[in-house]
Amino acid sequence: MEWEPVIGLEIHVQLKTKSKIFSGASTAYGAPPNTQACAIDLGMPGVLPVLNEAAVRMAVKFGLAVEAEITPRSVFARKNYFYPDLPKGYQISQYELPVVGKGHLMIHLDGREKRIGITRAHLEEDAGKSLHEDFQGMTGIDLNRAGTPLLEIVSEPDLRSPQEAVAYMKKLHQLVVYLGICDGNMQEGSFRCDANVSVRPKGEEAFGTRAEIKNVNSFRFVERAIGYEIERQIELLESGGAVVQETRLYDADKDETRPMRTKEEANDYRYFPDPDLLPLVISGEFIEQVRRELPELPEAKYHRFLDQYGLKPYDAEVLTASQALADYFEEVVKRSGCDAKLCANWVMVELSGALNKAGLDITQSPVSAANLAGLLKRIADDTISGKIAKQVFELIWESGKDADTLIEEKGLKQITDSGEIEKIIDQVIADNPKQLEQYLGGKDKLFGFFVGQVMKATGGKANPQQVNQLLKAKLEARR
Ligand code: ADP
Ligand code: MG
Repeated sequence: MEWEPVIGLEIHVQLKTKSKIFSGASTAYGAPPNTQACAIDLGMPGVLPVLNEAAVRMAVKFGLAVEAEITPRSVFARKNYFYPDLPKGYQISQYELPVVGKGHLMIHLDGREKRIGITRAHLEEDAGKSLHEDFQGMTGIDLNRAGTPLLEIVSEPDLRSPQEAVAYMKKLHQLVVYLGICDGNMQEGSFRCDANVSVRPKGEEAFGTRAEIKNVNSFRFVERAIGYEIERQIELLESGGAVVQETRLYDADKDETRPMRTKEEANDYRYFPDPDLLPLVISGEFIEQVRRELPELPEAKYHRFLDQYGLKPYDAEVLTASQALADYFEEVVKRSGCDAKLCANWVMVELSGALNKAGLDITQSPVSAANLAGLLKRIADDTISGKIAKQVFELIWESGKDADTLIEEKGLKQITDSGEIEKIIDQVIADNPKQLEQYLGGKDKLFGFFVGQVMKATGGKANPQQVNQLLKAKLEARR
């Protein structure tokens, strides 16, 4: 039988506010344990939470970016459960009325576009952290993270393969970073994913029973965990078993998922509206204000790059991956006045390759957009060849000087004077009588050898087209 996977993701996005969602304590990462949790985060009696407006603004920003309905009056609820890292005994979340309603996100995969539904996104507070590593036979509790604002984004079960799930996750990651509402740091847990997975016989309408894989925090692991889970469920069903609705854990070392607990029902949490917090009322005016703050979104930028610069879809995708990279590329085009494809190539191949190798981000590039533009101008006007340009690029990288200065300093200007090139060709021919004889005897391959010698004699500076032309003429004249 052919099986079809059905996948829905719940993604927790840590919002980039300075203080917590219901208190003034700092959200900065990496402080010594338990130095950034105040009485409110600890759930001390007699304290009251106060909602952080910045978190609401960010949630609305997200909602507008996925064309979702913003709930005019949403409600905070208590989700009750016991865990050592949750001293209050409940988490403040949103349940029946989330701040962001139905929206959607477009993903691109193998040249196809697909619209993925977003069911909802709600605001909630994070819990603390249990630490096991430094404590033998004990568990340490760090409550610094308690009260950190999260936006939980729930997708429709619209995803049909591990690859689609990862494409969606990457798109969402890109979007929240573009919007400036999340730092996107997955190692620090700023962007975490729970994956719901089920399978059904292909063609069947009804969904199968799902398992939820908790907290997978890298794109690669999400793909592997879902892939493993699909295989596990298919094998189980084909051998006559049934999938149990449960929460599972992905073990990256063993590349498998394991049961963690049977799935809790919503009523296990005894959700009820938090009596300490007023409903969250969002005015049309507030929404319009946030709308005006929206940057150009990645999807719009992608389409503009296709239209305005005539780029290939893959190139447009890569160059719009981050706002900083897109800005850099556009500045290079603008300043150089060169063909966008030449600019795209240099940014994507030469520059990105060098940045990767050095472990640097585009914002840390030693070669500024202005300097790369300056270099491309000199390729375009034939001052230097593409090959020499690579050399100049390295020099710019090392020195921070501009292309013109370096070309001058190092005498790298291309030799286009045909008289000069001819002189060098004559010398090369005179210096290599054996090769000349073989060439004239029919060994055409040796043409490349002569080109190489001429280029070597000029330090790579001779105009390659001219060398080819003149050399051909000179050699033919001797046949
Ligand atoms: P819960 O609140 O119990 O986590 P939800 O109904 O909110 O459940 O769904 C959570 C996620 O599970 C959503 O992303 C949804 O798309 C996905 N989902 C629901 N049913 C299935 C299913 N049968 N197979 C795969 N994913 C599913
Ligand atoms: Mg859930």
